[in-house]
Amino acid sequence: MIGLISATAAGAAASARLAAAWPGRVRVYEGPVGPAVQRAFGECAQVVCFLAVGATVRLLAPLLSDKATDPGVVCVDEAGRFAVSLVGGHGGGANALAHEVAEVLGAEPVVTTATDAVGMAGLDTLGLPVEGDVAGVSRAILDGEPVELSADFGWPLPALPPNVRAVEVGSASTDLRARLHLTDRTVELGAHEVVLRPPSLVVGVGASKSAPVDEVLGLITETLADAGLSVRSVARLATVDAKADEPGIVEAAARLGVPVVTYGAEELAAVAVPNPSDAPLAAVGTPSVAEAAALAGGGQLLVPKRKSTPEGRAAMATCAVVRTAARGRLAVVGLGPGARDLLTPRAKDELRRAAVLVGLDQYVDQIRDLLRPGTVVLESGLGAEEERARTAVAEARKGQAVALIGSGDAGVYAMASPALAEAGDDIDIVGVPGVTAALAAGALLGAPLGHDHVSISLSDLHTPWEVIERRVRAAAEADLVVTFYNPRSRGRDWQLPKALGILAEHRAPRTPVGVVRNASRADESVRLSTLAALDPATVDMMTVVTVGNTATREIAGRMVTPRGYRWQQEPTAARTEATEAGR
Ligand code: SAH
Repeated sequence: MIGLISATAAGAAASARLAAAWPGRVRVYEGPVGPAVQRAFGECAQVVCFLAVGATVRLLAPLLSDKATDPGVVCVDEAGRFAVSLVGGHGGGANALAHEVAEVLGAEPVVTTATDAVGMAGLDTLGLPVEGDVAGVSRAILDGEPVELSADFGWPLPALPPNVRAVEVGSASTDLRARLHLTDRTVELGAHEVVLRPPSLVVGVGASKSAPVDEVLGLITETLADAGLSVRSVARLATVDAKADEPGIVEAAARLGVPVVTYGAEELAAVAVPNPSDAPLAAVGTPSVAEAAALAGGGQLLVPKRKSTPEGRAAMATCAVVRTAARGRLAVVGLGPGARDLLTPRAKDELRRAAVLVGLDQYVDQIRDLLRPGTVVLESGLGAEEERARTAVAEARKGQAVALIGSGDAGVYAMASPALAEAGDDIDIVGVPGVTAALAAGALLGAPLGHDHVSISLSDLHTPWEVIERRVRAAAEADLVVTFYNPRSRGRDWQLPKALGILAEHRAPRTPVGVVRNASRADESVRLSTLAALDPATVDMMTVVTVGNTATREIAGRMVTPRGYRWQQEPTAARTEATEAGR
């Protein structure tokens, strides 16, 4: 039981949130805090005090006896910002509790014992369903004890702390406090054991018209149970296109909480199966639905076709079960221009989802603190793009969860294209957009990108200058706002003046030019100049240069590109146009 003690209204509100989140796990102690702490300390295995650390220390001091037997105590501040593991970090489980409390309250866990400074999040944050003694195993992991992971097959898990060691299935040591299994099989769990359920099973389903959902679902669950497989590892149901809306299949999938994927009859007919038959061939044009649909995405047939066995009439459903080959996962993650609060929450999640991180060393430094302990970091220096891309894809092909990072958006003059050129359809790719330099700079300059615009990289390392010049000329003629990336480096100094000269052939000398260096980074600088006045020597590789179009103006020190003549002058006409466009 966890005792909860509070003194103020804010504390009581936070306490009530914990009580609501953990029904049956907590006891709320009312009344003056002194006696309340005393009672809770004697009666509960753990205590959460919504009190100042100082006050809690004074109340606890006379009660403390032995770290092996004292309850674990967590202290939460008045504003609910921190959950501090105060005493009993290991034995009393306060470290793990601090993480749990923080999770519920949206607070920061504060854990000061050495082994826990590693920042391992709970097992329930691995992205897979977990069964068993989650709290006990989490605690063993947090305590830095040796923990074994036995996996039936490879799966792209996030990084686990170094004290979690992968072992061969069946070779488990006996003297360990905690053990993790990764499997889709049903297992008898002992004390201090958990099983992670990877979504590794595909159930192929065939059904006659109007087959009842209970018959379909009953067949699926019985088949899995008989084969010793967990329903929680079912990733999806698979069937033929013609059955995409078959209510029994759709509803069975909904009840299992998984999607239905469908395949064309021709595609299914081409899949080699052990048990083809004439009935589906006549009905939907493929000799196998259940087995072929289950196998269509690849994998190993664990349970061949089985029919339902309704009483007193013919079977209306068939199913077959396949274990899909684990696929590696490559997340291509844009980190934004630099500032931590311009890194998206999704990017943060993907960094914590990865077991392997690949990136340029200076970008890795930008986010190193966010990585899970145990994350393998493969960093390299400037210029090694191709190699980084190859490394990232190769790691994913091994079945790993990999994050490949880039600054700004990883798809803009960055790692996404070389990586995706290298990747086949044998790995999963997840792209996370980031705030690219042009946008970060635009927001600092004002509204330079309010109308049509392009980005042009002035680096002629991989692109012949003739091509770059042709594009600059086209942008100039089309009156596009232009943002130059890679504008100028020590060895590449004539391209920017040349490009500005081409634009100046089509734009007035007083056309605004925004120069933003290190947008959102520590030494950020923002300057507004003009085509005539800009000194290219003040521009370097940390900079983007945005040149306005013929309508761009400086207004109150900001660079503003109007939405267009009509928008500004004739709101009625603009509305008409919008309505037409909306049709
Ligand atoms: N993927 C990155 C761009 C990589 S190309 C993105 O989406 O932003 C590298 C060029 O981007 C640099 O030479 C510079 O022109 C520009 N750049 C990147 N980050 C910047 C920042 N914070 N401030 C200004 N320019 C930046």
